[in-house]
Amino acid sequence: MRHLTRGSTHGLGVSLSRDARRARPVVWISHKDAKCNSCGAGLGRGKLIVIDRAQGIRCLECASLAGLEFLPSGDAALTRRALARSSPSAVVVKFSRARKRNERQGVLVEETAIEEAESENAKDEARRETQRQQRRLRDAVAEQKYVAAFTAKLLALFPGAPLQAAEVIAARACEKYSGRVGRSAQAKALDEEAVTLAVRAHVRHEFTEYDRLLAEGLEPIEARARVRPAIEQRLTLWREGRSD
Ligand SMILES: [Zn+2]
Repeated sequence: MRHLTRGSTHGLGVSLSRDARRARPVVWISHKDAKCNSCGAGLGRGKLIVIDRAQGIRCLECASLAGLEFLPSGDAALTRRALARSSPSAVVVKFSRARKRNERQGVLVEETAIEEAESENAKDEARRETQRQQRRLRDAVAEQKYVAAFTAKLLALFPGAPLQAAEVIAARACEKYSGRVGRSAQAKALDEEAVTLAVRAHVRHEFTEYDRLLAEGLEPIEARARVRPAIEQRLTLWREGRSD
């Protein structure tokens, strides 16, 4: 029991929270058989025990911590809430032989505190889900607006572009910019140069032999040069309001 005793008389290491260091009793998971100093009860390996300098090893009953539920670590919000709602509470630690330090395993709290904390957590989760839905809706609306704005800008610059092509280009541009937040990024994506670049790329793939040239093994730079006149010709047509 040497390491447990040492742990109880010195600081508990970095794994314990400020709460634990302040006032909350510490309960250890025993590593070997022992006896309660007060009532003599056998405390086997894995038992929860309390150790202090004055009274030595005691069982939870004798340390006035009986009847509490073990809440394992893992859900920080749940633990925080349960601790806040439980007046008797304790931190449960275990000495890790491998890492040679005390590690927090969970807390002991009143059963009702866990239930209240779980219910709070559930309410939180419901609230977050509502917020997620609202955000998705807002994003969808913003996306529609963006596609509409892009399409309008495109058709203003290229009145001869087929509506269907304009919508396809706008949707792709929207996909590309949807991850970038901020109005400036969106505004920039709607400027003449950006729209023209998007139209040019679309025309390259849909109205020229560019992809076929690439498939035949041509270097992109060469293929681009090859199809450039066809692209410019079509852009001029669309700019002038003619579709063919
Ligand atoms: Zn006892």
